[in-house]
Amino acid sequence: MVTISETEARSILTPQREGALGGRYSYTLNPYRGCAFGCSYCYAKGFTHDSSLELTWGGWVQAKKNAPELLYREAGKLAGARVFMSSATDPYQPAERKHRLSRACLQVMLSMLPGPELLTVHTRSPYVLDDLDLLQAFGDRLEVAVSITTDDDDVRRIFEPHAPSVPRRIETLRVLSDAGVCTRVSVSPVLPSDPARLARMLGEVTSRAFVDSVRFPQQQGYGLELYREHGLMRYLQSEHTSAVARALEDELGPENVWHRS
Ligand code: SF4
Repeated sequence: MVTISETEARSILTPQREGALGGRYSYTLNPYRGCAFGCSYCYAKGFTHDSSLELTWGGWVQAKKNAPELLYREAGKLAGARVFMSSATDPYQPAERKHRLSRACLQVMLSMLPGPELLTVHTRSPYVLDDLDLLQAFGDRLEVAVSITTDDDDVRRIFEPHAPSVPRRIETLRVLSDAGVCTRVSVSPVLPSDPARLARMLGEVTSRAFVDSVRFPQQQGYGLELYREHGLMRYLQSEHTSAVARALEDELGPENVWHRS
């Protein structure tokens, strides 16, 4: 059971000067706080700065109902900017079907002249296809990164039990690519998987990949207990992430794979 509430945010664009996205992106944009997918390894739960919210991560979502208005107000920042939506929530989690905040933010950014130079929409959800018309309208200023972390849906059920299945995500990438939307797969974090099989599956639906290892792998509360419980500890070694990156480089070409180790 996920509790969804509405909230008024004070700002909607978060500057990225350093950290994982700094250098490549100017701002992150999170239309929601919290995430119903509640992935076991999610580092965003640590951003809540509230132990009860952190402990119940996945059980609550706050819809920032003024997100589109804030974006209008901050329009001056967006000319030529590089925006990542989203870094601490999934913009196409089920709440989006009711609140349509991500859609409204896309509409605001599309209406801006000049608007962002690059918008990356990062999601695990097929609901991103609800906005296919808007995604197409951005042309080559937009890319959709679909997070696919393993080839094995049994593994997905262990670490991401409330997120869409691997086949649904693969199909989402296929539909986006076929519709002419610029795509990439985000194998982030790399979960236990068969590198060659994963690369083959992904190579059929996209031409670019980002590969990243599990953050905080040794920290309790970020999925470590699941690796132990299911006898998967060997997959936490960096060699596994490197094997997935190499398999993707073989499949897509090294120039199309970005590997953060
Ligand atoms: S979908 Fe992303 S933001 Fe949501 S819980 Fe999973 S990793 Fe965290």
